[in-house]
Amino acid sequence: MTTHESPLAPEWLAVPEDLNALQPLLWAEGVQKNDAGEVTIDGIAASALKEQFGTPLFVMSETDFRSRARAFKDAFDAAFADICGGVDVYYAGKSFLCTAVAQWVADEGLRLDTCSGGELAVAAHAGVPGSHLGLHGNNKSDAEINRALDMNVGRIVVDSLDELERVAIIASSRGTRANVMLRLTPGVHAHTHEFIATAHEDQKFGLSMAGDTTDEEGLSAAEEAVAAAVAYDSIELLGLHCHIGSQIFEPDGFALAAQKLLGFQAAMQQKYSIVMPELDLGGGYGIAYTPVDTPRPPADIAQAMAAVVRATCAELGITAPRISIEPGRAIVGSTTFTLYETGTTKTVRVDGPADTEEPDNVTYPRRYVSVDGGMSDNARPVLYDADYSAILASRNSSAAPQLSRVVGKHCESGDIVVRDVYLPADVAAGDLLAVPGTGAYCWALSSNYNYLARPGVVAVRDGVARLIVRGETEEDLLNRDMGVANV
Ligand code: PLP
Repeated sequence: MTTHESPLAPEWLAVPEDLNALQPLLWAEGVQKNDAGEVTIDGIAASALKEQFGTPLFVMSETDFRSRARAFKDAFDAAFADICGGVDVYYAGKSFLCTAVAQWVADEGLRLDTCSGGELAVAAHAGVPGSHLGLHGNNKSDAEINRALDMNVGRIVVDSLDELERVAIIASSRGTRANVMLRLTPGVHAHTHEFIATAHEDQKFGLSMAGDTTDEEGLSAAEEAVAAAVAYDSIELLGLHCHIGSQIFEPDGFALAAQKLLGFQAAMQQKYSIVMPELDLGGGYGIAYTPVDTPRPPADIAQAMAAVVRATCAELGITAPRISIEPGRAIVGSTTFTLYETGTTKTVRVDGPADTEEPDNVTYPRRYVSVDGGMSDNARPVLYDADYSAILASRNSSAAPQLSRVVGKHCESGDIVVRDVYLPADVAAGDLLAVPGTGAYCWALSSNYNYLARPGVVAVRDGVARLIVRGETEEDLLNRDMGVANV
């Protein structure tokens, strides 16, 4: 154990060689430290961002977003060019969506995956053509289905047999055909470096491919859906879809899922004398939240997936369908950091881990550093035990590293932003902290818990910072409250 290493730290967390240095993999293009030790983005210092926009604040690099979007599109297009002429990349809007981002997505030649009427409304507001939209969701309302048909969306990804029937009835009543993909559960679950394959699924999404499900003839729900879709005049069956998980680093799980879906596709095409021209392999590509995360470049994953699709189609003797993917986090996650102001700090003494050889009465310090946001702007640590990293953003420090926990200001003891990080021991009220990797599923999951106003989002490009979503005000917080007169 080095001098400052704490026995309370998780095994993966090392004491950084230089507490003042940024770990490039965690940060967006254009983020650096200046001579005064301030975090800057395109040369704009953290203190200037605070001054102009306040904290907490999501700070997003538009340049980085666009280049990650292009990197996915280019890498997958190149890898699949000889297989199916390229890939349609649907940016998963659930990870972060606002009008500006929808426009960047369209500008960069990507399409947009939505999963609610609200996300469709943002897409419409941004002027994304309906043909470039997908609609997901395990419980779409009739209104959402109608809205998707009004907008002529390119695809509705159907999640259940009863939804398929509803889409067919609604489309028929409108005298139109709905473009449909069927979301299947291939029994492949991937998480970081491992994946598991199971026959049966116990989750709310998708149609099971296991062959012992609902039908008397012993058809799987997936096959029942294909048979039903073929029989409906008002359904245009584009193809199959799967999404096997999130924060996945290795391509093996994607490859196995592709193999399973292509096998099923070949069997269905033969049995029902149909051709399904498309196949969507979902999203889930991992990013670096901490220095130990090791995402692969999009080209590596694209090539591994392409090799499997190429070989499987050849083996099955089918024409490869047009492939699409749905990355969210891998495009937006690392584009953004959250800027917080530090408030109260305190140090508690904690018993050592159970396996320590120290006597029972030895305790270790853990520093709690409170910031002016918390679980309302980043629910992922509470929801998924997600790990993040943080750095002092307003100055350099020569103080010793101290194991710290960055916590929010909410009335929950689980209100943790960064569970374990080494920060300089002199971090104090008024300092700024920056937490990288907060582009995906942070603002999107934000809440008004404890009546905190949700932070704004600033986009930085070519040295200019502009608000793309303004922060809420106290007036916003009160404007749905109907007041005493209506009680
Ligand atoms: N597609 C579907 C159907 C999803 O459910 C999700 C995330 O939950 C995504 C795409 C995007 O996943 P990620 O942001 O991990 O790429």
